[in-house]
Amino acid sequence: MGEIKFYDTLQAKVREFRPLDPPEVTLYTCGPTVYNYAHIGNFRTFAFEDLLRRFLEFKGLRVRHVMNITDVDDKTIAGAAREKKSLREYTAFYTQAFLEDMKTLGMLPPNVQPLATDSIPDILALVQKLIDREYAYVADDGSVYYRIAQFERYGRLSKKKLDGNVAGARVDVDEYEKEEGADFVLWKAAKEGEPSWDSPWGKGRPGWHIECSAMCMRHLGETVDIHAGGEDLIFPHHENEIAQSEAATGKPFVHYWLHAKHLLVNGEKMSKSQGNFFTLRDLLVKGYDPMAIRFALLSVHYRHSLNFTLEGLKESGEIVKKLDDCYWQCLSRISASEAPGKAVGKIAEKGTVTPDMERALEDDLNVAAFVANMLEHITDLNKALPGMGRADLIECVRFFKGLDALLGLDIAAIDVVPDGIRTVLGQYSDARKAKDFSRSDVLRKEIEKTGWLVKDGRPGEPSTVKKIRRVWDIKK
Ligand SMILES: [Zn+2]
Repeated sequence: MGEIKFYDTLQAKVREFRPLDPPEVTLYTCGPTVYNYAHIGNFRTFAFEDLLRRFLEFKGLRVRHVMNITDVDDKTIAGAAREKKSLREYTAFYTQAFLEDMKTLGMLPPNVQPLATDSIPDILALVQKLIDREYAYVADDGSVYYRIAQFERYGRLSKKKLDGNVAGARVDVDEYEKEEGADFVLWKAAKEGEPSWDSPWGKGRPGWHIECSAMCMRHLGETVDIHAGGEDLIFPHHENEIAQSEAATGKPFVHYWLHAKHLLVNGEKMSKSQGNFFTLRDLLVKGYDPMAIRFALLSVHYRHSLNFTLEGLKESGEIVKKLDDCYWQCLSRISASEAPGKAVGKIAEKGTVTPDMERALEDDLNVAAFVANMLEHITDLNKALPGMGRADLIECVRFFKGLDALLGLDIAAIDVVPDGIRTVLGQYSDARKAKDFSRSDVLRKEIEKTGWLVKDGRPGEPSTVKKIRRVWDIKK
């Protein structure tokens, strides 16, 4: 098998991926700021990160994945104040909603998901270290700032040229776009009515950027293999993370920086005022299958911007259905020849995909090539199905297991046709053979009442069944 390659934003080129300590891989992904429901642009990034992790695991690597939850920053504090709630109460609600959404979309849960507010001691220790090493200074009001002029490599990730004397220019807010950069805040002195914690510099609270450096190094060590996020985080967030972490440790912070491009809706930037803003829940209440949404978010290469449309979402739904149909054709046929109660999944546990598909993902997660190969393979399978023997059918089930391992579409999650259904299906086929259609109708309805669909085979072919995909009842 070939080598794995990723595009590293810092070195601005595709590089062979070599973990520091194989087969372990440490992966840090910037989690949500829990001030609202996450939108599909956020989930595009999370879906890419999920694919990245699944692919590394598919290749036999052991990924330790940390995704933080930003539950204290400018936006969460403003939101809590607006709703007259405590910060914890306000953020707990959106944290819960986020975890539900991630589950709905079939994302693997991170190994650790630390809250920023649970990480204050780590944050304080890191700020102190930066002060001790003269990369940070305490202002008159008790806020602490990072001195960017002190860190020579500042601007490398975002390719910003910092000419002129930037010393003294300061920025207090978490999100900013100053071209020249500025001394950014690590610890903000407490303001009236805001949540605060004790610190050696007086009461205050952390800035957003220091939170990620602290949580990443706490849970994954001083140097991580991969740090990923949306491209909007390159500056200032990730630039500042590098400055903070490397100044504190003197070691490289991250070996590979991976960034996903943004998502557009109907070719335009998504915004609430434009009326083209979708949360996951907005789409679920419209009746879209979460796996169709997942596929739509995954199926464009992460370094291309994704143009999201409802038309495209429908097409994604058709592809998911196509995969589903083919899988159930395979499973029904193999079930029919197995002893009752035998789970086919047990004999096809280890999933696999075609070498072309695997190679496509090795090439910087080239999902477009992967999907093209996948669709070709499905066409071939559908053609070959009628002539397939047991070994071929098992191979087919194994393919869908592999596909699920990589894409997480949950196609082959159910890998046994229950004995009861198989028995009725047999009676159904017999009734049809005898042209007793009133009886076959009754039997069909009996099967459908249990959440399964019957699909009649072509002449001379057996009828098959398919589990109806879950219906989602989401309240917003
Ligand atoms: Zn972050």
